[in-house]
Amino acid sequence: MDELLERLAEVSDLERTAVVLGWDHEVVMPPAGAESRGELRATIERLAHERFTDDGVGELLDAAQPRDELERDVVRMVRRDFDKARRVPGELVAELARTAVAARTAWLDARARDDFAVFAPLLERNLELRRRYSACFPDADDPYDPLLDDYEPGLSTAELRDALARLRDGLVPLVARAPEIDDAVVRGPFAEANQRALVRTVLRAVGVDDESWRLDDAVHPFQATPGVGDIRITTRYDEGDLDSLYSALHEFGHGLYEHQVDPALARTLLAGGASSAWHESQSRLWENMVGRSPGFWRWCFPHAQAALPGRFDDTTWQEVQRAVNAVRPSLIRVSADEVTYGLHIVLRFEFELELLEGDLAVADLPAAWNERMRDYVGVEVPDDVRGVLQDVHWAEGIFGYFPTYALGNVIAGQLWERISAELPGLDERFAAGDFAPLGEWLGEHVHRYGRRLMPTELLERVVGGPLDPGPYLAYLEAKLEPSAPLMS
Ligand code: ZN
Repeated sequence: MDELLERLAEVSDLERTAVVLGWDHEVVMPPAGAESRGELRATIERLAHERFTDDGVGELLDAAQPRDELERDVVRMVRRDFDKARRVPGELVAELARTAVAARTAWLDARARDDFAVFAPLLERNLELRRRYSACFPDADDPYDPLLDDYEPGLSTAELRDALARLRDGLVPLVARAPEIDDAVVRGPFAEANQRALVRTVLRAVGVDDESWRLDDAVHPFQATPGVGDIRITTRYDEGDLDSLYSALHEFGHGLYEHQVDPALARTLLAGGASSAWHESQSRLWENMVGRSPGFWRWCFPHAQAALPGRFDDTTWQEVQRAVNAVRPSLIRVSADEVTYGLHIVLRFEFELELLEGDLAVADLPAAWNERMRDYVGVEVPDDVRGVLQDVHWAEGIFGYFPTYALGNVIAGQLWERISAELPGLDERFAAGDFAPLGEWLGEHVHRYGRRLMPTELLERVVGGPLDPGPYLAYLEAKLEPSAPLMS
């Protein structure tokens, strides 16, 4: 057992080193360093992979004698990762990586020319390789299962299909009858320096300190955790809106998860979130359930007035809170509002399944995309750049990841229902600038477990049931009710 833990610590150290290199790449590295940084990262990641998948680890896992619950969980979860990683031949892994680089280039080219045909053969190749990847797991019920399992261990395609169909059927009518809200009050210009002041104030209040956290700028905001007590989040500033605040809250949610994992799990490979969807549930909860709540804006409004002088003189916190909850069907996933966002995801999930299973030909994808955007979101897609070519995921050969964005919302809804029952008066606490009870509840019920439990086991333990989009839909419905009281 000690030898196994030593080996895992080494693999974990290599992986965390890659995290530092990645963070540095995105945040501080000058552009000309990209090529040599690519080599550095590839070497470190290859070493981590080799050290993890070699025969010695299998032998140590077979021989390991766990001495307590924690060690039992380490062996159980690491065994699962190990068996999965060993199923895929190195030659296929390398081919996936190579094709992804070529496909990304073709995707950029296709976007520049607004010509899907330039990208189509590479997308076809990525799909073919992913089918081969799936074929490495002949016991899977569905070819999509092994892909999904990389991000949501243990979740079946059948369960996912059911949950997302229910989400879709609930969201489509909600979007269609959402009231039109004038959100001019949260449209800029807001000077960047002023936004920085507001972001700092809000992050302090929710729990960011200088001891364990860093905040930096990044083109695509993200969170990175090199180790215990070293949580790094990023945001971006656009003078035209207040998205900097919402990106910061989102990444804070990811960071708090990592920050509150039981330190005893450090260097075991279990010191992280239970799954992609669980991680996203934490970011969405802080971004949306907290950051768009009445209590949050009752507290934040005077701070926003102070940080953004003159901008909120003729308005009220109620008006700002209404504006940050506006629903407006749009073309682009990353800038979609909270309600239409789920539909952008459901559509991508459906296409991934149809493409992978051969029910939809790559050549027919753009037309199918435009038709479904009309049906679900209610918008006309003017070109493929703002349609099927907008996301990088499929170019990079990533299939099975999109649904975790929507599942994050679903889980956040289930948690929120539970939290609201267990912590009555939470909105009043927010109004007083007190976010600690929520952070503590999440630490106790979710964060401390890290990856000790399978995602479904964690959900069962926290909310007492399986995936259910019901609470999330009810949360949205309550907000969109025209007569919804602003005070709660
Ligand atoms: Zn996120």
